[in-house]
Amino acid sequence: MGDYKPQEIETKWQTRWAENRVFESEADPSKPKYYVLEMLPYPSGTLHMGHMRNYTIGDVVARAKRMRGFNVIHPMGWDAFGLPAENAAIKNHTHPRIWTNNNIAEFQRVLRRFGFSYDWRREISTCEPEYYRWNQWFFLRMLERGLAYRKKSRVNWCPKCCTVLANEQVVNGGFCWRHEDTRVEARDIEQWFLKTTAYAEQLLDDLKQLEGGWPERVITMQRNWIGKSIGAKVWFEVADTKQKIEIFTTRIDTIYGASALILAPNHPLVSSLVAGTEDQAKKESKLAQMRQSSVKMEDIATAEKDGFFTGRYALNPFNQQKVPIWIGNFVLMEYGTGAIMAVPAHDERDFDFAKKFALPIPVVVQPPEGKSADPNQPYLEYGVSVNSGPYSGLTSEDSIEKMAADAEARGFGKKETIYRLRDWGISRQRYWGTPIPVIYCPNDGMVPVPDKNLPVVLPANPKLTGEGESPLATDPDFVNVKCPKCGGPARRETDTMDTFVDSSWYFYRYCDPRNDRAPYDSAKADYWFPIDQYIGGIEHAILHLMYSRFWCKVMRDIGLINHSEPEARLFTQGMVLKDGTAMSKSAGNVVGALDMAERYGADTGRLYTLFAAPPEKDLEWSEESIEGSWRFLNRVYRLVDKHKDGYPISEIGCQKTQVGTAPQSEKERALLRKAHQTLRRVGQDFETRWHFNSAIAQIMELTNALYAAEESVSRKVRQGVLEILILMMAPMTPHIAEELWSRLGHSESLAYASFPQADQALARTQTVTLPVQVNGRTRFRVQVPADASSADIEQIVTGHGDYAQHTSDGSVERLVVVPGRIVNIIVR
Ligand SMILES: [Zn+2]
Ligand SMILES: [Zn+2]
Repeated sequence: MGDYKPQEIETKWQTRWAENRVFESEADPSKPKYYVLEMLPYPSGTLHMGHMRNYTIGDVVARAKRMRGFNVIHPMGWDAFGLPAENAAIKNHTHPRIWTNNNIAEFQRVLRRFGFSYDWRREISTCEPEYYRWNQWFFLRMLERGLAYRKKSRVNWCPKCCTVLANEQVVNGGFCWRHEDTRVEARDIEQWFLKTTAYAEQLLDDLKQLEGGWPERVITMQRNWIGKSIGAKVWFEVADTKQKIEIFTTRIDTIYGASALILAPNHPLVSSLVAGTEDQAKKESKLAQMRQSSVKMEDIATAEKDGFFTGRYALNPFNQQKVPIWIGNFVLMEYGTGAIMAVPAHDERDFDFAKKFALPIPVVVQPPEGKSADPNQPYLEYGVSVNSGPYSGLTSEDSIEKMAADAEARGFGKKETIYRLRDWGISRQRYWGTPIPVIYCPNDGMVPVPDKNLPVVLPANPKLTGEGESPLATDPDFVNVKCPKCGGPARRETDTMDTFVDSSWYFYRYCDPRNDRAPYDSAKADYWFPIDQYIGGIEHAILHLMYSRFWCKVMRDIGLINHSEPEARLFTQGMVLKDGTAMSKSAGNVVGALDMAERYGADTGRLYTLFAAPPEKDLEWSEESIEGSWRFLNRVYRLVDKHKDGYPISEIGCQKTQVGTAPQSEKERALLRKAHQTLRRVGQDFETRWHFNSAIAQIMELTNALYAAEESVSRKVRQGVLEILILMMAPMTPHIAEELWSRLGHSESLAYASFPQADQALARTQTVTLPVQVNGRTRFRVQVPADASSADIEQIVTGHGDYAQHTSDGSVERLVVVPGRIVNIIVR
């Protein structure tokens, strides 16, 4: 057997798994299922060890679940459409398909090299017509239901490229990525939207189903993104006109503190407000400049607050006081009504604005009695209304209630619920995406492509320049089409879909990847869903998850599935850092995954990734610790090698060895105790806590114990403990585990070997007998481990058969454990 040669062993077992189709699984309602999934990768660049963490965690879970008897589905595929492929194609004079497929081949090679237990028959690539035809099919269903619609919307526009830019192509705070001297403009063009807002309330409500299964902070991020607020609309009349400005506020109780109304630069009333005021031309040029600035939400949030006074006033409907009307760059037409009332004393953003432009800061809410507000800060909490006319003295809650009701009664307001969530703009003026399946006819207007004509296939050889109109529009064979209704000449839609569409439902396709009659078979989806464990980066905590939750609800309403949430449990792993920053090609600090496999083997890479940090924490890459993981695997390998003449011990099956071996000496007892204690801990670390790092530390300790005891225990006991050791390692380092397992005399793959149960008797340290007294009289006795905690003892006592009988004539007031001596129960 000789030295540990991971490359040989790993190739051998990967080949064997593939030949024997070990990881293929089918829906089978007679078996409990487990769906474990890592978010599908975007195939770009080379995989490095920073990427491997996600897949390693998923693979450990998949393998551990198989060993616990679950029918496991563990698929993999490619998020293959997207802008980088198109840009790379333009740069390198290649086709996005070639670039993408090369990357997929490379990704596949690396993932196979790491021995991840995927069912490769289920592999999908979203850029293939077999897949994206169903995007189109779903789009048509949404169109029928009024969930897909077209409207004018703002986009980033480069006047030199004459093209729409994606947000990531707007660089350096508002410039074109190709023309760094050209400022990006905002333009309004017709775009397709999916009506996510129709599901806003459900998206919010159903978060309850995810509690306990999803990280708290992700649920919070989802909730905040939906951003439900209950408040009121209020109409301010513009002084000396009949015009009204509508604002929305969740703090109508602060309306007496409004020191300005602030409108978005593209609010429809802005031009008429500015007209005829002093310095009109100057204001208009300022407006034009503000309207052109980037439409990126993040930029607006962080941009320096800018604005100007229009010269006009509005009237506060509660007290008819004059309030100046301003224009502000931080007010969005797309959110709310495009106008806000600024209450600087009670809002952070308004406070900054008021400080900058020297607006008054009247206080209208005071902290509840006994507290005082910091005069240099806005006071944001609820409190008591002051300086608020008839509402002074009410609590904020009461003021909100009463003022909203009064506004409605007096005809200048309305109680209302709004959401921060917007409809999903899916139009992209790009090539490498799903064509939107509609046709425009001069006679019939917009006509959906009939289902039987799907897929609308991307033109094979577009002109990709990155400039001008959508690439699909440059291909006359694609564009010119007969109208499905009247047969006359018509034009195809030339926009493609946002690639988030692809990833919104891909995991359903895995259940039935070759179906050409439907996106998937409902019975199969019913069996496999929901996803029992979804694993991926926190960067997807908002959009991807929101869209997939939306898509699920739409599919439910179409009648494809019965459930409402696709991902029952979600795990977001920590980042992999090197020299303090996240591993990335641009930071130049990557450790290539293939290099790792070449130098140490995939098992060492996997082990290190799991050992270096708990999976939810960031991991700082260290070359020395990899050496440690490598040495550990060598140690285990040598341990088996050393006794190779003793195998196989044919007369004993492994399960029998683990559970049934009776120790013949104190040394054997000690080793078996250690083995079963380790098993108990590791079992919990796998199942509930995911403390893979502590599981590995325990396994290392057991290995030390085996080395220390090897000469003084029987072959039988030694093999039994070795088998426990290898079975515990199998989910994490499957290749070496398979190899050693076969060396110990097993002919079956351990992929489906059952994960051993800890023998509680063997795991037990010495036991002691404790008397249990009820109201001072000894009633029964319990046997407990000598090192049991008080809580453990309490559990044993209350679980004892005699407990109920002796405590039944009253209620247990106290249960006192004196460890090692006695348990006292007081019943009254
Ligand atoms: Zn440009
Ligand atoms: Zn027509």
